[in-house]
Amino acid sequence: MKFGGTSVGKPERMHQIAGLVTKETEPTIVVLSALAGTTNALVEIGDLIAKGDRTTAKQAIEKLEKHYQNFVSELVKSEASIAKANAVIAEHFEFLNIILRISFSEALSKDILAQGELLSTKLFSIYLEDQGIDHMLLPALEFMTIDHYDEPQIGSIKVKLSQLLKTHSDKKIFITQGYICRNARGEVDNLKRGGSDYSASLIAAAINASVCEIWTDIDGMHNNDPRIVKKTMPVEQMSFDEAAELAYFGAKILHPASIWPAQQYNIPVKLLNTMQPEAKGTTITELAGSVGVKAVAAKDNITAIRIKSSRMLLAYGFLRKIFEVFEKYRTPIDMVTTSEVAVSLTIDNVTSLKEIIKELEPFGTVEIDSNQIIISVVGNQISETSDMVKKLFGSIMNIPVRMVSYGGSPHNISLLVPAEYKTQILQQLNKGMFGLE
Ligand code: ASP
Ligand code: MG
Repeated sequence: MKFGGTSVGKPERMHQIAGLVTKETEPTIVVLSALAGTTNALVEIGDLIAKGDRTTAKQAIEKLEKHYQNFVSELVKSEASIAKANAVIAEHFEFLNIILRISFSEALSKDILAQGELLSTKLFSIYLEDQGIDHMLLPALEFMTIDHYDEPQIGSIKVKLSQLLKTHSDKKIFITQGYICRNARGEVDNLKRGGSDYSASLIAAAINASVCEIWTDIDGMHNNDPRIVKKTMPVEQMSFDEAAELAYFGAKILHPASIWPAQQYNIPVKLLNTMQPEAKGTTITELAGSVGVKAVAAKDNITAIRIKSSRMLLAYGFLRKIFEVFEKYRTPIDMVTTSEVAVSLTIDNVTSLKEIIKELEPFGTVEIDSNQIIISVVGNQISETSDMVKKLFGSIMNIPVRMVSYGGSPHNISLLVPAEYKTQILQQLNKGMFGLE
């Protein structure tokens, strides 16, 4: 069971998830995020220290510490528990204050980021103890590891975690940190922002769990972005492939990398709502459940690149040369479309855009469109759904579509449109494809 930042972000939420955890009949590993807002605050503190602005960093640390002290005063009531919780807070904030005084490094910034999950799990553990709920705190830094390419090492995670569990086989509830891990140099590191979902999926795969539950503040993956479109509905069942496309192309509820471990080890994933635990949510398994379009999602901050060249005509090896440029600069490509004399593709990481353009120029004319979004229409066998293409394009006739990608997989159609049309296109698709207004 993984609980996100808002699910642990208030003392009463923590009390409530304790109730959810103790209701379980099977042994359970509970993976926690940092309290809502903490990781953002830690990122800011790290940035301030890196910039050398220690005064503002110190203020930010003090503000965060106050937040935790208030949190604890509502979390536990007995004097002994309050003292314990305050000692934990003091320990972690002393650490931040020490970092403030020593010279900054990349490795230290990861140490700063790790404080959020270390705090949330320790505080939750103190609350469970306060309530007389038997459990065990498993330090993620003892089993969650990534290799030189920042890839999790599922084999060794499995070995280390089973050993840890074996030595505590009398316990039924285990608490551990999401997000944090150790890298190949043995330093504290993390699985990137939003990575607690990934931790949960890796742990579920490593122990061959019966289910991986991701508890958030919404009742599952919705058919459209609920922050933008008024009427949306949860999708009850979808396949790993569909969920991966949606998570990658903009559905914020799940970290995109968290699909593969569950998929590879065939562990069902459930997206559930802490505020409404009885809601069905979304179940993700091998099976899609039904045929047809299930959801649309938007991915922001996309840049399109078009390379036009008559030399592409009847040539082979042209695309390889172009793709190699992106590979050289470790820049992933999302969408690709080609004509006989041009190729268009999209990226979202523009760190090396200048260098990439420079290396592409010998191949032809290079045009750049920034400020684009990818709209993904995802479902099962959608190409076989009658009228789908008609409904899709019929509902967005007034919107300029820059690229279309169809047929890459049987469950996705992607469109590239200018970012200013985001709200409009999501609303129009909601009506045109789902009949929701
Ligand atoms: N606390 C981390 C973040 O905010 C990891 C997570 O919540 O998934 O990115
Ligand atoms: Mg998240």
